[in-house]
Amino acid sequence: TAKENGRGKFCVFSPEMNQRVFEYLWLDTNLRKALDNQQLVIHYQPKVTWRGEVRSVEALVRWQSPERGLIAPTDFISYAEESGLIVPLGRWVMLDVIQQVAKWRKKGINLRVAVNISARQLSDQTIFSDLKQALTDLNFEYCPVDVELTESCLIENEDLALSVIQQFSRLGAQIHLDDFGTGYSSLSQLARFPIDAIKLDQSFVKEVYKHPVSQSLVRAIVAVAQALNLQVIAEGVENKKEDAFLIKNGVNERQGFLFAKPMPAASFERWYKRYQARTGF
Ligand code: C2E
Ligand code: MG
Ligand code: MG
Ligand code: MG
Repeated sequence: TAKENGRGKFCVFSPEMNQRVFEYLWLDTNLRKALDNQQLVIHYQPKVTWRGEVRSVEALVRWQSPERGLIAPTDFISYAEESGLIVPLGRWVMLDVIQQVAKWRKKGINLRVAVNISARQLSDQTIFSDLKQALTDLNFEYCPVDVELTESCLIENEDLALSVIQQFSRLGAQIHLDDFGTGYSSLSQLARFPIDAIKLDQSFVKEVYKHPVSQSLVRAIVAVAQALNLQVIAEGVENKKEDAFLIKNGVNERQGFLFAKPMPAASFERWYKRYQARTGF
């Protein structure tokens, strides 16, 4: 970079900066178009209760780009957050999800769906009124949508977060704290927010059976959650050894590649039918 090159030298962009600027410009031209042209798709990943039931799935957005193929949210969500595009994107996700849940319900598939919400979306009242309207239009007598917020999202603006949580809760949505353990929330903050569950971050789950420190952390987090009357959902469960440890230590629900990857709605439906046939749930 210019600074490292020292005094008197002049450098506009390093190759990495160039790359980043290029990427930003590419996203800037293409993500809005993608939203307008229906290139975003929702994939669904099941969560499995400790007894083995699937009651709920998580909605994870992807971008089917004609130019680049399927793009993961990690490659465009932070751009969407910076640019503010996350607001219309988030509204689209909410509406698409609720329509999918309605379609499933017509086929006798009753599932809850958890939607991820970024900090930037907390001040968007429209997503909330849209959801309310959609529930009425689709004749839902309950709210099948839950929301996942991160710790940092709550701490950035505590009062706003609290009011958003209260609004969603009043409607009947559960509030899940995503990536739990990676942020900086204190226990008193945790107790201040009326949340229903924490999602234990994948970093604690990864090869937990090998790592005594992860084991202690998982046990401690479960104990805190139980003391506060919160459910614990483990993310990123990839193998049976991890799963066995989590179940033994009081985790209520698990999610991860061990069970299923996130899939388009139609593939998920097929997976779910097979799963039900196989397990009896
Ligand atoms: P997240 O909400 O923490 O989602 C969990 C991520 O872990 C997902 O990545 C999921 O595909 C991945 N995952 C699930 N099981 C496993 C596993 O067993 N092993 C491993 N290694 N990974 C697993 P994905 O789909 O790439 O999403 C990344 C993040 O993007 C999400 O993290 C969430 O923060 C954000 N995101 C996704 N969809 C939306 C959305 O509609 N709105 C907003 N605001 N953010 C979203
Ligand atoms: Mg999530
Ligand atoms: Mg997570
Ligand atoms: Mg995550």
